[in-house]
Amino acid sequence: MDFEIPDEYRDFASQVRLFRERELDPLEHDFLVNGGWPDDTRGALERRARELGFWALDVPTDLGGQGISELGMVLVFEELYQHPGMFHFGGSPEPSLYLCDDEQRKAYLLPVIEGTRRSCYAFTEPGTGSDLAGIRTKAERLPDRRWRITGTKTFISDVSRADFVITFATTDQKLGRKGVTCFLVDMSNPGVIKSRPIPTMGDNWEPYELVFQDCVVEEDRLLGEVNGAWKIAESQLVHGRLRIAAYQLGIARRAIETAVRWSKDRVTFGEPIANRQAIQWMLADSHVELEAARLLTYRAAWLADKGRECKHEAFVAKLYSTEMSQRVTDRCLQILGGLGYTRESVVQSLYRQARLWRIGHGTSEIARLMIARKVLQGNGDA
Ligand SMILES: Cc1cc2nc3c(=O)[nH]c(=O)nc-3n(C[C@H](O)[C@H](O)[C@H](O)COP(=O)(O)OP(=O)(O)OC[C@H]3O[C@@H](n4cnc5c(N)ncnc54)[C@H](O)[C@@H]3O)c2cc1C
Repeated sequence: MDFEIPDEYRDFASQVRLFRERELDPLEHDFLVNGGWPDDTRGALERRARELGFWALDVPTDLGGQGISELGMVLVFEELYQHPGMFHFGGSPEPSLYLCDDEQRKAYLLPVIEGTRRSCYAFTEPGTGSDLAGIRTKAERLPDRRWRITGTKTFISDVSRADFVITFATTDQKLGRKGVTCFLVDMSNPGVIKSRPIPTMGDNWEPYELVFQDCVVEEDRLLGEVNGAWKIAESQLVHGRLRIAAYQLGIARRAIETAVRWSKDRVTFGEPIANRQAIQWMLADSHVELEAARLLTYRAAWLADKGRECKHEAFVAKLYSTEMSQRVTDRCLQILGGLGYTRESVVQSLYRQARLWRIGHGTSEIARLMIARKVLQGNGDA
């Protein structure tokens, strides 16, 4: 394994750091005390980022992107996610959109890359999240070959700005997860109803419940094959897990840097708290765990860049990194004392954000289940 990071990726990550310091940090206090940014602030930041060249970073160059590798993107996310704003550079499609056929590319994939359309991703339902086989949103083929989709999806992120929704629906329930199909559904379709926003404990996270009520779509909105969505979900989730592992590096790094600064300044009983072993051990443990998470994430990204199977490694990196960032932000909040618990402290926001990632894109329990399965088969290098 060779983690020699090309200079161009390090340079690019430095530019991302400058962007964060110049464009995001001045708005951080607003973000923290208001629990997020309005859509227009986020939109303005995205436009500014685009002017500076931060656009379609991971998109292949033949599609107009910058072709940055997974390992390069890990460096980008470690820089970007030191800010609590969950800010993404635009122009990066959901991986499933690369399965679009020629016509769909023009209507969905390319507009996302160009920034004229946005997507969201609807898998979870009130009755199921971890289990694809449990999907009850139904798609039936009509006699004129169109499809009618009926059901309810929940916790769907980015709905407020989305133009279309990548929707998973069962087309043959008795086949379980192998009877699920994926559709591209325009949000302008009168059969898609944004029934309610769902307030969450995270800053700037307001997913929606979406109801599909007699939602009729043309045959050409089918993404991939009938009953082939489980393959799409799997590739989307592997990719997502790798990204989520990378986000945690930024979250934990920022928390540690904040706690280090504070511990040197904060004097109790005549000495900076940094002189106390209790504080030093929390910082040392956090540092070691961050380093370990970074290596696991680099390994998964490196395998992905080589085109090698990395499902297991992405799960390992995601499980370890998300639990690491939870422990690290908790310790760092403790080091900040009462200040850490206030809305003005970045660490409380990072702490709440870290909590989400143990749930989304495969919970910690599902990760352990999958990892244990591999270990028990004897090919988990245990
Ligand atoms: C802020 C936010 C944004 C989200 N955005 C999206 C989105 O954009 N699109 C989307 O489709 N979804 C989204 N989700 C949903 C998210 O992906 C699901 O919440 C997640 O997959 C878990 O599913 P669930 O909530 O149904 O939990 P469940 O699957 O019901 O699990 C409940 C608990 O049981 C455990 N469990 C389940 N099965 C097993 C098992 N076999 N063995 C042991 N333990 C088990 C789980 O680990 C968990 O602890 C979002 C969620 C949140 C909170």
